Amino acid sequence: MFYRPAWEEINLDNLDFNLQYLKEKLGQQKMLIAVIKANGYGAGDRQVAEAAISGGAGYLAVSSLDEAIALRLQGISTPILVLNYVSPQHLLAALQHDVTITVTSLEHAQAITMTKLTNLKIHLKVDTGMNRIGFKHDDELKTALTLLRSSQQVEGIFTHYLDSGIDQNPITLKQYQSFKETLAYLNYPFKYIHTANSDAIINFHDEISNAARAGIAMFGISSYSTDLKPVCALYTKITHIKQVSKGETISYSGTYTTENNEWIATVPLGYADGLLRHNQNRRIYVNGEYGTIVGRICMDQCMIKLTKFYPVDTVVEIFGPHLGLTEAAEYLDTIPYEILTSISDRVARVYRRATGVELVSNLRLDHYMK
Ligand SMILES: *Cc1c(COP(=O)(O)O)cnc(C)c1O
Repeated sequence: MFYRPAWEEINLDNLDFNLQYLKEKLGQQKMLIAVIKANGYGAGDRQVAEAAISGGAGYLAVSSLDEAIALRLQGISTPILVLNYVSPQHLLAALQHDVTITVTSLEHAQAITMTKLTNLKIHLKVDTGMNRIGFKHDDELKTALTLLRSSQQVEGIFTHYLDSGIDQNPITLKQYQSFKETLAYLNYPFKYIHTANSDAIINFHDEISNAARAGIAMFGISSYSTDLKPVCALYTKITHIKQVSKGETISYSGTYTTENNEWIATVPLGYADGLLRHNQNRRIYVNGEYGTIVGRICMDQCMIKLTKFYPVDTVVEIFGPHLGLTEAAEYLDTIPYEILTSISDRVARVYRRATGVELVSNLRLDHYMK
């Protein structure tokens, strides 16, 4: 249940479709690792995980041990890899919840060995140019592997591309070659070898991996033209509408002055919901036409200029079928990932199929209403 008309719709049919698309891209030989960090790109960690698992994902990946344990506590039993650094002091929790960790440096491997814990599931992270986390030197990597393999389950190795959204990118090829050389040098029978994110799954040929990590493509977004379908949409409803005379100003600081007598509607969506203030002056969709966000966006509300009267409760689309997430991102000079993960927990999530609404989740209230 939610009472304030502000909700993100997640189209589960399209999510299923995109997962099948990715499975087909990967073929029989490669396992799909569904990346559901940041609450499943804002769309709900459990819901996206469940869709991914039934869509054939054999592994999940998240950014922190907290996110991994949250999935375990919600009943997800599929293997989960934490992509970021986990402090050795938290490894017992990883073991207890059967969470796979990433080892990012020789110091990390040594500290893990010092804990005396055994049988941790581990993937090694190789830094081939991103310069974020991971081993940069093959000899250190080999030392770490030797150290870990006796008492832990070193089951995987991976790297991450810094610019796979550019077609025929020589940087991606260079990273791939470097990773290939590292694998040859280690000569170890890893169960899982993975390099690709969504864009690389769609547009980079890789003969060494047997798994790949897909995130944003599940939601229909790619740098390449594909048949992927959009999954997420953000809606609100008009809560107030009035005619404002020519020459009046709208919202804080009076940054917008009406040019005519104008229909100005108010919607209960503001920057605390993830509708960032820089969205001022961008278009939104109402009932077959486009209106414009005018004046400063407030914390909880904003005003839109419409060409005619619409009654209270008329639905307003912030992004969705009539105004793509890519357009919304471009307006802010950002990427769809940032838009999706900025939608706050004050916005309800509505899970929909062609057959109807499957679930409504209100992150603000559900927790306390059980
Ligand atoms: C976020 C992330 C991914 C998923 O990237 P997409 O571009 O969303 O497919 C894959 N691997 C790592 C290491 C990540 O951090």
